[in-house]
Amino acid sequence: MMEQYYEIKKQYPDAFLFYRVGDFYELFEDDAVKGAQLLELTLTHRSNKSENPVPMAGVPHHAVDTYVNTLVEKGYKVAICEQLEDPKKAQGMVKRGIVQLITPGTMMSEGPNEAKDFNYLTSVVSTASGFGLAYSDLSTGEVYATHLKSFSAIANELLSLHTKEVVFTGDLTEDQKEYLHKANIIVSQAVELDEKHAEISYVEQNLVNRSEKLATEQLVSYLLATQKRSLAHLQIAKSYEVNQYLQMTHTVQNNLELVASAKTGKKMGSLFWVIDQTHTAMGARLLKQWLARPLLNYEQISYRQEMVQALLDEYFTRETVIDSLKGVYDLERLTGRISFGNVNARELLQLARSLNSVPAILQALTDSNNDVLKNFAKEINPLTGVAEQITSTIVADPPVLTTEGGLIQTGVNSQLDRYRDAMNNGKKWLAEMEADERAKTGIDNLKVGYNKVFGYYIQVSNGNKNKVPLDRFTRKQTLTNAERYITPELKEHENLIMEAQTRSTDLEHGIFVNLRDEIKKYIPELQKLGGQLAALDIFAGFAQVAEQNNYCRPIFHRGRHDIKVVAGRHPVVEKVMPAGSYIPNDIEMDEDTNIYLITGPNMSGKSTYMRQMALIAVMAQVGSFVPADEAELPIFDQIFTRIGAADDLISGQSTFMVEMSEANEALQYATNRSLVLFDEIGRGTATYDGMALAGAIVKYLHDKVGAKTLFATHFHELTGLETSLIKLKNIHVGATEENGKLIFLHKILPGPADQSYGIHVAQLAGLPNKVLREAEKLLKRLEAQGASELTQASEQLNLFATSVDETEPLQKDAPAKHELTEAEQNVLQALSEVYLADK
Ligand code: ADP
Repeated sequence: MMEQYYEIKKQYPDAFLFYRVGDFYELFEDDAVKGAQLLELTLTHRSNKSENPVPMAGVPHHAVDTYVNTLVEKGYKVAICEQLEDPKKAQGMVKRGIVQLITPGTMMSEGPNEAKDFNYLTSVVSTASGFGLAYSDLSTGEVYATHLKSFSAIANELLSLHTKEVVFTGDLTEDQKEYLHKANIIVSQAVELDEKHAEISYVEQNLVNRSEKLATEQLVSYLLATQKRSLAHLQIAKSYEVNQYLQMTHTVQNNLELVASAKTGKKMGSLFWVIDQTHTAMGARLLKQWLARPLLNYEQISYRQEMVQALLDEYFTRETVIDSLKGVYDLERLTGRISFGNVNARELLQLARSLNSVPAILQALTDSNNDVLKNFAKEINPLTGVAEQITSTIVADPPVLTTEGGLIQTGVNSQLDRYRDAMNNGKKWLAEMEADERAKTGIDNLKVGYNKVFGYYIQVSNGNKNKVPLDRFTRKQTLTNAERYITPELKEHENLIMEAQTRSTDLEHGIFVNLRDEIKKYIPELQKLGGQLAALDIFAGFAQVAEQNNYCRPIFHRGRHDIKVVAGRHPVVEKVMPAGSYIPNDIEMDEDTNIYLITGPNMSGKSTYMRQMALIAVMAQVGSFVPADEAELPIFDQIFTRIGAADDLISGQSTFMVEMSEANEALQYATNRSLVLFDEIGRGTATYDGMALAGAIVKYLHDKVGAKTLFATHFHELTGLETSLIKLKNIHVGATEENGKLIFLHKILPGPADQSYGIHVAQLAGLPNKVLREAEKLLKRLEAQGASELTQASEQLNLFATSVDETEPLQKDAPAKHELTEAEQNVLQALSEVYLADK
């Protein structure tokens, strides 16, 4: 046996080999040592007596899933090795083989938490023209493919997809390896199949780009090679281009907390948390996809809005739809299980129940007063026949196992009914025999029983032993206080019963498999229906959210790039605050305004205001209504953010580096159709350095990029730029003083902030009067010099001149820094301490 083991293990050196022996899966050698530790199993040894005992650890077969999942979740692969023939019938060594390789990217965990998430396996090929990328969630069978130019674009896509495993051919550079390793993505070697499987041609049929085709072939080959079965649920690959959607890097998505809070990584506190009112796992998953890829196409966005509007208007339709959706299970994953061959009878019933909910939905949509809803209904095929097939075959409450009978209704198959009659007759005969023998022998407590080892027997308690007719009864087993006997007739009937039983469970399993295969034919239709219900679920949820939170339907103007949001709110902050206490703010940026320079004290609401704009843009392009009284928006092509976490201040230099590379991203790739959010850029370095950079960045955005930009800064000096940059406007968040206390109004007002707030805060903090007066004096001087000094300094750095010669090197020895007197330095020091304490 160990020879066979080593032979198989050789082919799967990087996986834990779960080797089936009877009722257990055994791990041997290093797998056993490591597995025992990871899974908390007892480590034993095979052939203890020999000189080289083999380490061994085992798990019972019925609990194998939990152990496998634990390992795979930790990033390992597991090869399942089964006995391929019945050990009782095998001649010599039982044949064994790998039936499935489970990897992080192909794991299909069940459970309420996983149901709302995808687990994507990604495949990447490197070609002369760039990279091809394809990905799939094995449990639903969706496949997507795209092509990208650079590895950094690939890396960003991998992070956005939260992929855990990437299949790759060719050589990765050390840096690329390091990158993937840091991102916890395992790299698996691609597999070449001997023949071109039907699944591959099916999945790639609509792809035209060569890199996408190669990546998809590689993806499907890997799935087939690891799963070792036909995968009928794999869907036709959809080709996409990242620039078909509103582009946001993974970092931007995180910063904006679209699907998870940046602090906790949980749903709570994210945009998804506010707008997800779906009732199916399919809907929740699709909404996450939508949030990662908001639309650019006006017609597509309008269609989603129309659906939301219709469900908002048609209250009763919406109620019925929502009620019915509550009865819909995860059609997409059920379909996957049908294809995969691991669906059970209970799940088929779930499928039938889900399908049975569809007619009510169709009826409600058709009966509504809205053509968009009526047309949506026309596209839906309720697949009533499939539901009927299931409900007319499977019993109402079937067992989990499909191999032990009890699944199929009476009347479905006459042969099965006959076996069941035989079983019933046999059991009736047993009951009659028991009564008969009691009468004949006079033993009142004589009874017929059954156990697995001896089969049926007659049991007589010790007190009645002497009454047993030993000419007819043969003793079989002695217990402490009873004897068990058999008779030839008993054994004859036992054979009949057992045979009928085996045959009937086999037959039941056969009928079940037939039914499953019959339903397999409808997989594409089931998947389509699943997708339609998921979208409907989102639309109804959006309508619900819009109604509850007073959202409005945004209007898009095509070709123009102005923004008008009246009484906008931050959807998440609004939600966590007591009702009515959020202060709404307008955002109006006409064609002639591209940059809002936002000043105001800390904690006044600058960051909230900027994020509010970005979230409104994302929501709008996803098709949702938005938290505002009125919204007129352009369709943004990309969103860039430079938003630091509160403790960024601490990490100094490296934070500054991150800050600058995020800023660089925006300067390089933003267009005049983009939205840029910059929060306190330049804070991570020396004051004048940072101020000069921040100013130069503003200027560059103004002159070269033309993106709609919200730029929050604590460099008050930058407000002077308004005079020279015509598309820049100052705004500030208002604050006021009441009984010596600083009150934040959270209201956006025109013009720059009154700079003395910093000193005011310092006063509140109890700083000596002498310092405060000194500060005021210095402030006045700085104000007087103001922007002119900044401009001067920056010109020396060659960053501000309108016609910057990009090839000209920076003048390193230019006197960029304003020389401060010792007194000024002291005051600045004191102020920065106050500033830090305030933060
Ligand atoms: P800043 O970026 O100016 O330091 P934040 O945007 O982080 O300030 O806002 C600080 C806090 O002020 C928020 O956590 C929120 O509680 C509150 N806040 C911000 N904007 C508003 C608003 N419009 N209405 C009510 N409270 C707000």
